[in-house]
Amino acid sequence: MTKVHFQSAPTTIPIHGADEAIAVRRIYCVGRNYVSHIQEMKEGDEKELPFFFQKPTDSVVLTGGTLPYPPATEDFQFEVELAVVIGAEGRNIPSDKAFEHVFGYAVALDMTRRDLQFVARDMRRPWEMGKSFDHSAPIGPVLPRAVAGDLAEGTIRISVNGEVKQDSDIGLMIWGVADTIAHLSTQYRLMPGDVILTGTPAGVGPVLPGDELVASCAGLPKLTVTVTGAETSSMKETIHAAD
Ligand code: MN
Repeated sequence: MTKVHFQSAPTTIPIHGADEAIAVRRIYCVGRNYVSHIQEMKEGDEKELPFFFQKPTDSVVLTGGTLPYPPATEDFQFEVELAVVIGAEGRNIPSDKAFEHVFGYAVALDMTRRDLQFVARDMRRPWEMGKSFDHSAPIGPVLPRAVAGDLAEGTIRISVNGEVKQDSDIGLMIWGVADTIAHLSTQYRLMPGDVILTGTPAGVGPVLPGDELVASCAGLPKLTVTVTGAETSSMKETIHAAD
């Protein structure tokens, strides 16, 4: 094979304090991991095992970037989450070895088309349309574990236009970083560059074009993104331009 068509550039996230970046392989997300958020969603038993979904790798938005208001929704919402970057391959990783597989951490947003998520949930369909769309994974710079240590507690917070909307502590996660890695690695072989969004506390809510979101967690580099108006269809414009 001499030529590959449609080869995409890798999705990368900068490493804080270094002229380096990680290449993202997959983005996994934990479905529910804080009792307070399970209660506000009026969902099931918080003692259930964690469940997971994925976002497309190219849905990452870096700090300083913009989030076009997505199509097909009237309820575009933020969820602030701790992201864990895997640095070493593993399957069936025991909890007490899990941090050895962590390269670092970042603050992330699990942006959600909440109306579509609820339709899917109520119809027992997959969550894809609600969770896994373009620009749905803003992720801040990565702080290496060598600097941050084994994260088990610390504030997690998001403000919208300067007003605090979610304010909790990652110590309140039902499944902490180590347990989450242990569970996920029973279902997938985790690989370097995999990113795990670990779930959100209470206080999720909608955003509108013009809103500025600032997220922070446990002293990690902050994540700032701005919501813009809906993207126009560049393909259509190209076709019209050719008319
Ligand atoms: Mn989430």
